[in-house]
Amino acid sequence: MDISLYIHYPFCLRKCLYCAFNSVEEPPCSPEEYTEALLREMEIRARTMVHECTAVTLYFGGGTPSLLSPSLVGRIVEAAAAHFSLRADAEITLECNPGTVDRQRLGSYRAVGINRLSLGVQSFDDGMLRRLGRIHTSREAIDAFMLAREAGFTNLGIDLIHSLPGQTPAMWERELLRARDLSPEHISVYGLSVEEGTPFAVLEKKGELSLPGEDDYVRMFELSAEVLCSGGFEHYEISNFARPGFRSRHNTGYWKRIPCQGLGAGAHSFMPEPAYGVRYANPEKVEEYLEALENGDLPCSEQRTLSRQEAMAEKMFLGLRMIEGVNLHSFEAEFGLSFQEAYGAACADLFTAGLLETRDGFLRLSPRGLLLSNQVFFRFL
Ligand code: SF4
Repeated sequence: MDISLYIHYPFCLRKCLYCAFNSVEEPPCSPEEYTEALLREMEIRARTMVHECTAVTLYFGGGTPSLLSPSLVGRIVEAAAAHFSLRADAEITLECNPGTVDRQRLGSYRAVGINRLSLGVQSFDDGMLRRLGRIHTSREAIDAFMLAREAGFTNLGIDLIHSLPGQTPAMWERELLRARDLSPEHISVYGLSVEEGTPFAVLEKKGELSLPGEDDYVRMFELSAEVLCSGGFEHYEISNFARPGFRSRHNTGYWKRIPCQGLGAGAHSFMPEPAYGVRYANPEKVEEYLEALENGDLPCSEQRTLSRQEAMAEKMFLGLRMIEGVNLHSFEAEFGLSFQEAYGAACADLFTAGLLETRDGFLRLSPRGLLLSNQVFFRFL
């Protein structure tokens, strides 16, 4: 069985003001101790797998996994090869904060097997980066990109955020052009969403966060596709653009419901069996995660076996994130009923409103549907 492996490294030098990811500034253990726990978890998970597995992608996310030394990253890559038969041509990605790397470190990551970097640039505007609480400047992000190229990385991604406080469509267009000029293989663009429990949420409640209005948000979303597609990128998922042949294999697996084993505090997993699949998650708190492994237990905090209804809904709202949409033939083959039978009545008005369309056997979001995707996804829940 082909699977994806995800490694969560839940530590950051400083928490960004908008961040709701599972990450903390003060690790309760050393990187070495955390890595030992990851390796222990990997060994137990591999031993208890029902099927023989081959890992086709390995993804280091966080948090800030570029705080892990190259030698520790290398140990995890080696363990993935030993326990999950990591394929020789596997896509091995490391999320990289530009404020944490230099020439030597990037070269060492390449040497231990990382073949794709996802650089968290977020903005090329230093004032905006300070506002977001990022630890790096625009210059450092550009330097990290250049140094990664020199280190031999031929698959580089850049992450940007739009609809930031005080940002206008003209400012966003400049951000896109600067990203495009660097010629990465991949660009992800996310609209800022203010999450409960973050400093940004507090500022918003106090009326101290001047976010762009809806029209500007829409314009920035549209500009992303206009600027990047005219520069040779394919728009392949709501928030993701790639040069031909450089789509993120790991994330595509997620949208296509490929089995994924997550490892580390708060990591999520999906396995296609039993029944219509099972989703489970590790405890988010690092202390709980470590304690479970010290006791020889698997660190599982929740587990849910999917019903046919839930699996069908996932197939729709994950698959529709991709521009190509959902293959209706494969939907019917998997669930034994057609899309029309399952959702025809519930979705009729989405076709009438021009949010959904079918073409060549695929159901997909229309350009307007991409903007209002949450409204469409809600229909499947
Ligand atoms: S670096 Fe990433 S994970 Fe860490 S606080 Fe900032 S946004 Fe969150």
